[in-house]
Amino acid sequence: MISFTYRCTDCGRQYSREQVRYLCPECGKAYHPGIPLTGVLEVVFDYAAIRGAFDPSRPDWNLFCAVEPEFHPPLAVGRTPLAPVDRLGAELGLDRLWVKNDGLNPSGSLKDRASFLVVAEARRLGIDLIVAASTGNAASALAAVCASAGLQALIFVPQNAPKAKLVQMLLCGATVIPVKGTYDDAFRLSLEYTDKRGGLNRNTAYHPLTLEGKKTAGLEIWAQLGYQVPDAICVSVGDGVILGGVYKAFVDLKRAGLIDRLPQLIGVQAETSDAIHRYVQTGVYSDAVHPTTRADSISVTCPSNAHGARRAILESEGRTITVSDEEIFTAQSRLTSRTGIFTEPAGAAALAGLVKLQAGPDALPQDAKVVVLATGHGLKDIDGPLGRLRIPEAVEPRLEALRP
Ligand SMILES: *Cc1c(COP(=O)(O)O)cnc(C)c1O
Ligand SMILES: [Zn+2]
Repeated sequence: MISFTYRCTDCGRQYSREQVRYLCPECGKAYHPGIPLTGVLEVVFDYAAIRGAFDPSRPDWNLFCAVEPEFHPPLAVGRTPLAPVDRLGAELGLDRLWVKNDGLNPSGSLKDRASFLVVAEARRLGIDLIVAASTGNAASALAAVCASAGLQALIFVPQNAPKAKLVQMLLCGATVIPVKGTYDDAFRLSLEYTDKRGGLNRNTAYHPLTLEGKKTAGLEIWAQLGYQVPDAICVSVGDGVILGGVYKAFVDLKRAGLIDRLPQLIGVQAETSDAIHRYVQTGVYSDAVHPTTRADSISVTCPSNAHGARRAILESEGRTITVSDEEIFTAQSRLTSRTGIFTEPAGAAALAGLVKLQAGPDALPQDAKVVVLATGHGLKDIDGPLGRLRIPEAVEPRLEALRP
């Protein structure tokens, strides 16, 4: 039996999993589309029980999981590699740098982790329609996990979502509704849909298990480093749920007495999609009015988990950094050419932030243990890098046609 309660991150009220579904019934009343979510729920486990039962030599990750294994979908999600990248590390003045390659999830992004857990919850509740708004990856992840479990996915995407992601959703059999407008418009429409017509809503941060699913990336980092806490983890930030999830992993481990400190979280946003960065800097929230970044997965006007992301940065004594698209594409090509790991622009943003940090006065020390989270696969969006490359012309198939 899994034992946990939901706790409101605003007022602290606690609820059983049968009492609530999305937001705190009290604080959620203040939420209306166009502002960051209020009353986001957090899963609070029985940490004493975890401490007694967790054995690092035979880790049972289900102790940290809010849905019973019998409901888990059959798709193999997570357990992605953590690669030491020494050549890149040396260039950045870091002796111990790793890249966690979450582009190797089944649908090619970290979003599979959130979809996996929400689909598990839908199966527990006996709901067979799952609805989401997404810039692309959450939707392709939901479509893939639903396909494996035989459930129906209904997806609202902004009309400019990259083609590869749309192909993924459609091939998986999802119902795809492109929305004239932005991701934020799609988010609003999907909430209205589940409100009035039914289905389980998987919107990021709105369903509390999205954050719990993304948390597993942080748990894996800890285990893959030999049960050590890294000094810093660089995460690209759109809605701020991956950031919040990685933070929650270390909070859970600390509450269970398995670790005694948190890693510093370094949240990286695109310059034009910087609402969380400015919120951390000033303490006052305002939207990113024109998020024009080519890194579509982190292009967000009003980040749903802005409040939680800010807390994660402050409480981990971390920081936020913004990067230009030029810096993102340079980091993407640098990562690929030094490590062979090809990540989409949003994934490369995390590295771009680290590059910027290491060039400035607050560079991390040479012996710091640093992890960069590469959140999505590069093949999901090749138009950006293609615009910066020249594909060589074909030659006659004779040796003499080649330059010596
Ligand atoms: C969704 C996503 C992000 C950002 O995650 P948030 O939880 O929205 O902050 C970063 N990279 C990729 C590839 C993504 O799909
Ligand atoms: Zn509340």
